[in-house]
Amino acid sequence: MGALFLSASAAAPCLPGEKLEPMPAEAPTAPYQGVIARYRAHLRLPEGAAPVTLLEGNTPLIPAPRLGAQLGCELYLKFEGLNPTGSFKDRGMTMAMTVAAAQGAKSVICASTGNTAASAAAYAARAGLKCFVLIPEGKVAAGKLAGALAYGAQVLQVQGSFDDALSLVRQLTDRSDREAGGRIALVNSVNPHRVEGQKTGAFEIVDALGRAPDWLCLPVGNAGNITAYWRGFREYQKLGRVTKLPRMFGVQAAGAAPLVLGHPVDYPETVATAIRIGRPARGEEALTAAEESGGQIVAAPDMTIMAMQHRLALEGVWCEPASAAGPAGLLQEAQAGRLDVSGQTVVCIVTGHGLKDPDAVTARMAPPLVIPPNLDALEAVVG
Ligand SMILES: *Cc1c(COP(=O)(O)O)cnc(C)c1O
Repeated sequence: MGALFLSASAAAPCLPGEKLEPMPAEAPTAPYQGVIARYRAHLRLPEGAAPVTLLEGNTPLIPAPRLGAQLGCELYLKFEGLNPTGSFKDRGMTMAMTVAAAQGAKSVICASTGNTAASAAAYAARAGLKCFVLIPEGKVAAGKLAGALAYGAQVLQVQGSFDDALSLVRQLTDRSDREAGGRIALVNSVNPHRVEGQKTGAFEIVDALGRAPDWLCLPVGNAGNITAYWRGFREYQKLGRVTKLPRMFGVQAAGAAPLVLGHPVDYPETVATAIRIGRPARGEEALTAAEESGGQIVAAPDMTIMAMQHRLALEGVWCEPASAAGPAGLLQEAQAGRLDVSGQTVVCIVTGHGLKDPDAVTARMAPPLVIPPNLDALEAVVG
């Protein structure tokens, strides 16, 4: 090692007067091939199943120094919006679709608040399977619906809530399992392979930090993700990769907070459509994760969530409203004196990209100023 150096002229151009450090030549590393290839030894998969992948995962842990300073902690944003279809759902979908394809399914179906639909549609397209998605009528953000359609899924709008849609697809796939040999695979987060794939987010955090954070903060809707992260951290602990586990800090939207209220919510309502869920499929597991880890699940109102979306955008990370719920709840609790994260390391899972729900921003902002095409007018504004 170390004997070979790239010459300066082979490197990127530099500014005048800037000196270039010679770059040490490294052994060529294998190109990244997605979460299954990276973590296969830790994932329960049928032997020999060929991964259906779009190279999901491997998302950055972005420091958020200004918000971190306000909280007195070292804060990182794990930006899951940079996955192939713009949300963390791709981590689970690569697993669900790999298993469905390996088991000979001909089509897949899911109920979705939007991101699962786009992800299922993309991975089904990749696998060559037909995809049906059921969404609550009129309640899915524009970028998500467009995604599902673009990837070629058959989208059905249900005159009801997400919970109604999930109940329908569960009944249908139960019947298909009994009567048609399981040719329609259910790829909702009740699908156990989804949670398996999503736990790779926890592995990545530990592999990047060299340890687990003190707090792991994330939004909670159907509660698959909090379940997955908790499982991932505990598995790494069993393997001796981490000694101390993080506390899990889950946040629901105040208008859709069954886990905080302690009972289902029949008509969940929130601007954070990805967590507009009144009967979380993995609610019990989420409560267990919070309790076992010494963490908590809290509720944040829509106004606080939208303020945090703006705040994160000012750190350069634009996420969809649901993703802002996590840090919104964190800041809310810290400011109320109910939570002290000073001196600690906190990772917030920024679950989905802001581009998924552009209306959430444009509907709230004044439209851009209109000026005549002359310099005076421009200078009057810019100064
Ligand atoms: C699915 C989703 C959530 C909620 O995750 P659960 O596993 O349902 O708790 C949060 N944010 C975004 C962007 C999502 O797509």
